[in-house]
Amino acid sequence: MSDLRFDPVSGHWTVIAGNRNDRPVEFLPLERVQKRLICPFCGGNEQETPPTKMMYASDGSQMESSPDENGNEHDRWSSRVVPNKYSAFCELKNFDERAAGAEEPLEGVPEVSTSKVAHGPYFRSALPGPQEIIIPSRRHILSMSSLYDDELKVLFRANQDRLQSMRDCETAKHAMLFMNCRSEAGASLEHIHLQLIGSPVVSEHLKRRVERNRLHLDTHKESLMASLLKWEIEQESRIIYQAKYFTVVCPFASRFPFQVWIVPNDPSVSFLEADEDVRDELAFMSRDVIRRLEEALDSPSYNFLMHMAPFGQMAADHWYLEFFPRTTRAAGFELGTDIWVNPIAPELAAKRLRS
Ligand SMILES: [Zn+2]
Repeated sequence: MSDLRFDPVSGHWTVIAGNRNDRPVEFLPLERVQKRLICPFCGGNEQETPPTKMMYASDGSQMESSPDENGNEHDRWSSRVVPNKYSAFCELKNFDERAAGAEEPLEGVPEVSTSKVAHGPYFRSALPGPQEIIIPSRRHILSMSSLYDDELKVLFRANQDRLQSMRDCETAKHAMLFMNCRSEAGASLEHIHLQLIGSPVVSEHLKRRVERNRLHLDTHKESLMASLLKWEIEQESRIIYQAKYFTVVCPFASRFPFQVWIVPNDPSVSFLEADEDVRDELAFMSRDVIRRLEEALDSPSYNFLMHMAPFGQMAADHWYLEFFPRTTRAAGFELGTDIWVNPIAPELAAKRLRS
């Protein structure tokens, strides 16, 4: 059972996720655990995960789940979506049905309260949040750089579909789409997968981001990211490359070495509404960024994530993808001050990634 706790000192929400103690431990030292022999995300092993929520064929079309008597899928899928077996928030069952307008609370679904409740000097909440895993290949591959063209396109179609579905879910105030790749990035299974978490609360961090965006928009009549992008294109030194719909850049105040953004050139294009051309370009650029990082840094662990404003506040925001190769760790100064020390200038990182 998960517990959502609020710390009034730092203003942070924390999920105390008790059920995650049972998570797969593939990356613990071999002497401490038995290596998993069956990968739950490989094609043919579908019975090892919760039942399929959605499957996509290699042309991007949605497929009906048709499991055999063992729970394995009959048909060859390209991307497959399953509920997260080890969810961080408490589980919300059947959020698709709820999004579709079910009037009566569904059995097993906790009632949603909109406010946190006092717990001594603290606050807590037991809000549910939908969570899914998106498996982008039936092949056992360890990085997004190994995805085929077709798999990539289908993956980004699936990402868009599932984000749209989460937007329509009343309990999700914000959605975070991300990938943890390799052990240092927090992956507990090596077969690559994306996670999509619908958060029932909007963190202070996100609220401040929305507020900064709104202030900039009011003052300058363009989004903050549009202003930054214009300046970066003039400066050139941190630009890795530009394409029709997106620009790849190492941000001016990078907190980590080789931090990379993929920013849409047109801030009015929402990922949720993006057409196939835009989606495909983003898919190929994402793989390209990871290939460049793997070449420059000898296949590091990495995270990438999609920054989006909370649902209902997206008009004032500018979404983008961010990549974090894990080459450094937070130490005392970073943990105590939230000011980060980055030993590699983004200008130098961009130069290395361009070549
Ligand atoms: Zn696998």
